[in-house]
Amino acid sequence: AAKDGGRGRYHFYSEDLHADAEARSQMEEDLRDALAKGQLEMFYQPVVSTSTENITGFEALMRWHHPVKGWISPHRFIESAEDTGMIQQLGEWALRQACEQLAEWPGEIRMAVNVSPLQFANPQLPSIVANAIASAGIKPSQLELEITETVFLQDSAATDAMFAALKNLGVRLALDDFGTGYSSLGYLKKAPFDKIKIDKSFVRGITEAGSRNAAIIASITSLAHSLGMETTAEGVETMDELDLVRVHGCSHVQGFIYERPLDAQQASERLASGLAAVARGPRCSRAPRQTML
Ligand code: C2E
Ligand code: MG
Ligand code: MG
Ligand code: MG
Repeated sequence: AAKDGGRGRYHFYSEDLHADAEARSQMEEDLRDALAKGQLEMFYQPVVSTSTENITGFEALMRWHHPVKGWISPHRFIESAEDTGMIQQLGEWALRQACEQLAEWPGEIRMAVNVSPLQFANPQLPSIVANAIASAGIKPSQLELEITETVFLQDSAATDAMFAALKNLGVRLALDDFGTGYSSLGYLKKAPFDKIKIDKSFVRGITEAGSRNAAIIASITSLAHSLGMETTAEGVETMDELDLVRVHGCSHVQGFIYERPLDAQQASERLASGLAAVARGPRCSRAPRQTML
């Protein structure tokens, strides 16, 4: 793009902007392609009750199988999807996909789906959710929408109205990645969450002597409990972490200690083999950490 050699600052600057814009529209095209050509796939990670050790549901997590680059992690494309606006289409697809998958599974298990703050700001979201539920034929209470506290940075009247509209559909709401952002207690007072998901950064290191994470987790779970909310500890990888988050009152656990996110086939087999989740034991912590799958 550097056609006239970049004389002076202004040129460098405008060329950078130009390159950015080009990269952005390339990414938009790639994401559009990915959706149209079936390169996106939902994976499902079991959520386990700490009291019964049964699988109570799954979290749906998106993966991109790129024909040249291979598997791409959502850490590398969700942000671009948000920047380009493609998140609206990707998010709707994810929601439909997850609801249809849930409809194939027996029992009253739940499906959690991540909702970007940009989807949350879309006034169409309640009707998109209602349609996904109706066409899959699941109960609204089986669907849990995971929202991050970033949504509270937007216009508060619109945010309140969106919470009310979603609650009105009968879906469950979870506050994702709790503890990583502003984590104002005001959010917990304001919004009708059914669950708080405690970020893995609090779980990591919980077993170390003198770690403050244990005290923090204990206070979050006791607060959540008195507000009538469930708590899921995210990213539990070892037996020691599992024991501690249980002792400190987390009602649910999600992490490699039980399962990594599974493809639809594996998740179905996992369910068919019984709801009882079997922890993999401390060796799990020494297994090579695969961030993708
Ligand atoms: P998240 O919603 O907080 O999802 C949990 C992430 O933790 C997942 O990463 C999961 O694979 C990972 N994880 C689960 N257990 C463990 C563990 O024991 N150890 C470690 N180290 N990691 C664990 P993933 O699948 O790479 O997704 C990353 C993020 O991308 C998600 O974080 C979510 O914010 C976003 N994301 C994924 N799928 C979607 C989607 O369909 N829509 C939207 N809007 N965002 C999505
Ligand atoms: Mg999530
Ligand atoms: Mg999370
Ligand atoms: Mg996240």
